Amino acid sequence: ASVLDLAAIRADFPLLAEQVNGQPLVYLDSGATSQKPQAVIDAEVAFLTRSNAAVHRGAHTLAAEATELFEDARAAVAGFVGAQPEQLVWTSGATAGLNLVAYAIGNASVGRGAPASARFALGQGDEIVITETEHHANLIPWQELAARTGAVLRHIPVRDDGTLDLEVAASVIGERTRIVAFTHVSNVLGIVNPVGELIALAQKVGAVTVMDACQSAPHLPLDLPALGVDLAVFSGHKMLGPYAIGGLYGRSDVLEALPPFLTGGSMITTVTLEKADYLPPPQRFEAGTQPVSQAVALAAAVRYLDAVGMPAVHAHEKALEQRMGEGLRSIPGIRLLGDPSTGSGTTTGSGATGVERVGLWAFDVDGVHAHDVGQFLDARGVAVRVGHHCAQPLHRRFGLTASVRASAAVYNTEADVDTFLDAVSGVRAFFGAGA
Ligand code: PMP
Repeated sequence: ASVLDLAAIRADFPLLAEQVNGQPLVYLDSGATSQKPQAVIDAEVAFLTRSNAAVHRGAHTLAAEATELFEDARAAVAGFVGAQPEQLVWTSGATAGLNLVAYAIGNASVGRGAPASARFALGQGDEIVITETEHHANLIPWQELAARTGAVLRHIPVRDDGTLDLEVAASVIGERTRIVAFTHVSNVLGIVNPVGELIALAQKVGAVTVMDACQSAPHLPLDLPALGVDLAVFSGHKMLGPYAIGGLYGRSDVLEALPPFLTGGSMITTVTLEKADYLPPPQRFEAGTQPVSQAVALAAAVRYLDAVGMPAVHAHEKALEQRMGEGLRSIPGIRLLGDPSTGSGTTTGSGATGVERVGLWAFDVDGVHAHDVGQFLDARGVAVRVGHHCAQPLHRRFGLTASVRASAAVYNTEADVDTFLDAVSGVRAFFGAGA
């Protein structure tokens, strides 16, 4: 039995009651995007129905109300990650947040619009460190920034068991390191990276830290200021919220010293035909009209998660992860990515190495293409993700081009996991693999 009242929780998510291919839906693709509770859908509809107006503008009553709802939403979402409202910048998602950071640092590097740009200036031979576990969203912006500035991109490798090699990390992060960018939880391995250790290594050399919290924010209690990270991003649609909204958290001194990326309306104080003065954070980074109804609905999403309680969410999903991992290991021909039992000198069973996980496993089925596995499961109502999950280097590291990924969220049940496992156990026989 779960620590959560799953019948009540599931009743809040209308889509979970749907059928797919004549089967009850078993939704195990929350790593790609989560389902939304009625409270989130209602919050967006209510705003558009009764409160819609342009925020931070106009003297009329409705504009003041909309502004209040918008700024209340900022406080709620900031509070969800332990932050102050002015430390939260709205973005359209994690990808936008990471590009914002990389471009802003690039602007600082060429001396554009920077209050204290020296801190971020990158030049020939400076180093940006990432990990081998990154989603392309936390890889390609750094490749581009390195190309623009002459900086060198280096990486921390992942071991066979999916953990980062911290000894190598300690040698890769050095005097030339200016930025260390890493994911909190890999969207392929489900492993919670040792981010405290990475931040400590980066701080020793004065490097800026950037964390991708896409796959942790919906699943773990998060206190970004306590973690000591400089900048972090997350996506609303993966945490029960709507599309086209996300957050960029920044330490106050870091945001204050960072120049803008996008420029235009709503981010300025005084503008002449020659130059402009910029507002302080977070508005400095919010040029143009913001995703207001989405922000209000994302606040409803974090209120929903907080009402359930993030420690309980984590405990529930951890139990699902263990059931899933044990079940998959017992099916012949399945190879889990980032399995502790494949590490050197470790014992079997998840958690055996002290590795913390979220409810997510990616795996390879010997002799059957991931896309065929996905279709086979879909015919049985089970929704999973197949492909490289925007992490090609990591798949290459494990000798694969694609994998199957099952990812759970607060609303999944043990029965979901069992239906999924039952379906997976029939895959190889169906495709005549390993017979
Ligand atoms: N980072 C990670 C770890 C992700 O899982 C994702 C989404 N798959 C992203 C970044 C990108 O998020 P978005 O597409 O919402 O910008």
